Amino acid sequence: MHELSIAMSLIELASNELKRNGGSKILALNVKLGPLSGVVKEALLAAYQLAVSETDMSGAVLNVEDVPVTVFCSDCNQISTLSGSLGGSLRFVCGYCGKATGDVRSGADLDLVSMEID
Ligand SMILES: [Zn+2]
Repeated sequence: MHELSIAMSLIELASNELKRNGGSKILALNVKLGPLSGVVKEALLAAYQLAVSETDMSGAVLNVEDVPVTVFCSDCNQISTLSGSLGGSLRFVCGYCGKATGDVRSGADLDLVSMEID
């Protein structure tokens, strides 16, 4: 399962950070997730719960922040946010002039942005 291996690598990353920082306990992991990352938020949360319960980080909360998909239009020289969802209605067009653009600037991310350590 794709999300399980991602959840486990997040936990490993956080656990290494904790050792480096000398903290005693991780309270929360803050992650940014874009819809183009291919990771399903609900599946990641479920996989995380499963994976973390078997580690000494059990109890640490995973907070997932949704990152919008943005594209750049060279005609308008503007970055706009795509409306719609990945369910089929997401169209890669400029929000200002409507021109098709595949120049994605965000939305493919899966990043551990911060941690709360006790
Ligand atoms: Zn445009």
